[in-house]
Parts: sequence; C-alpha cells; structure tokens
Amino acid sequence: MTVFLCAACATQMPDSDQPPASCPICTDDRQFVPASGQRWTTHPELAAGHAARLEMDGDLFGVGVTPSMSIPQRALLVPRAGGLLWDCTSLVTDEAVVALRRRGGVSAIAISHPHFYSSMVEWSEALGGVPVLLHEADRDWIQRSSPAIDLWSGDRLRLADDVVLIHTPGHFPGSCVLHWSDAPAGRQALLAGDSLHPRLDLTGVSFVHSVPNHVPMHPDRIEGIRDRLRGVEFDDLYGFTWGLNLIGGARAKVDQSFTAFLAAEGHPTR
Ligand SMILES: [Zn+2]
Ligand SMILES: [Zn+2]
Repeated sequence: MTVFLCAACATQMPDSDQPPASCPICTDDRQFVPASGQRWTTHPELAAGHAARLEMDGDLFGVGVTPSMSIPQRALLVPRAGGLLWDCTSLVTDEAVVALRRRGGVSAIAISHPHFYSSMVEWSEALGGVPVLLHEADRDWIQRSSPAIDLWSGDRLRLADDVVLIHTPGHFPGSCVLHWSDAPAGRQALLAGDSLHPRLDLTGVSFVHSVPNHVPMHPDRIEGIRDRLRGVEFDDLYGFTWGLNLIGGARAKVDQSFTAFLAAEGHPTR
C-alpha cells in the first residue's frame, strides 16, 4: 500500500494500491486541476527533490518547502502549551523536526482549513503522535484519516492563556484563525490562514472563496467574519505564506478592507 500525494495541492490521500482517480481538493471549485492533468507523487519522491525551508517570518519561526510547491504555504510555531504548530506542509524532514524540538517542540498541530491538511498525519507521527486539531465543519475534507485527528466544534477553542482558535467560516465552512494576544515583542498577532488573504501590497486583505480562481467570498460570509472578529485586537496579521504579512496597524487595515470589499460587492454595510 502506498500513501499517494497530489502533486498539485500536496495533500496526502488514504493508503491505496493504485493512485486515486482524482483529487477531491483539486476538483473542488476553490482549487484547480492543472491543464497538464492530475499527477501523483509520494512523500519519499517529494523528499528526494525538496528540502524543508526553516527560517523566521516576521517574529515567528516558519517551516515551509523549497523549491516552492504550487500552494506555497508555511507553518508557524507558536511556542505555547508545549508548542503549537499552526498550519502544515507536505514535506516532513528530520532537520525540520530537530529544528522544532530545539525551539521547545510541538504538542499539537492546528490547521486553518483543508488546503493545508497536506501531510498532517505524517507530521503528527514524526512529532510523536501529537493531536491534529481541525474544525469539525470540514470533516468531509479529511482525505487521510488518523486517530491523531481531533475535531473541535463551536466558535472558539482556547489552546493557552494567550492563544485561541476562532472559527471564521467563509473560505471553507470550518475555516479558522489563531489569535495570539502575547506574541513576541509585546505584540498581538492574528494567524489568518486563507480566512483573510493579505493583498500583495500589504495594505489590506481580501476575502475570497477561491484564491487561484479569483472568486470573491459571499458578502454574508464576509459580514460573518467581521462579527466573529469584533473586539479581537491585533497589531500584526500573518497570511498563509512567507512574507505575506501585515506587520503593524493590521486591525485598522482589516477594518478598512471589510468596508472596501463589501462596497465593491455592492453590499450595504451595517
Ligand atoms: Zn490535489
Ligand atoms: Zn485555501
């Protein structure tokens, strides 16, 4: 049996003798099957041609993949409650595990939404079987299951005195963000996954159903995220990939973006 991994979105599939007929993540309207067709790889094959990218992103330690994959997300370490790894990547290496242990280790993985489920089971196993926290609203998007997967429900899940997951449905029904009220240098940080998507000029965020297909989010969902983030203060917002972060004044930039995005969609703001 082999654990096949989609070469486009880098999601591991259930063990099988043959590659699956298609990838449920890529055939969904939020992603796309490359024009060249569906391709499958495996973790050993991926490891032969890639390495872990281990470096700081803003004030936080990040883990990514180099050369970059088609969804180039990076995970971030929140050194609280025994170590929390926010989001996930497709490639697990000994070097990455050692680097995380050197910074205090990882006791749980929390993932924003299904595009970053990637090699979550492989990561959990490499880190000693740590739980993988996913919002239960996205349970149908889990491809490779594991007893380590721990579904949470409701609006919030507190992980430490100063760390909480906030359910922000929109991009996916189970999309969530991580709020860290005592981040390094006395700052408050919002780790946003794809729930809020920083613009390339880093002056604000967009709210999108699909990033690569440029499909905006329904205005009711945008209003919903605004309500769920009301009263949540943050200086910095960390997007899904390296450097795509709003450092300083992020709360005001997000507030302006809610107004601008809803106006652009012709939606009267409340
Ligand atoms: Zn895929
Ligand atoms: Zn996404």
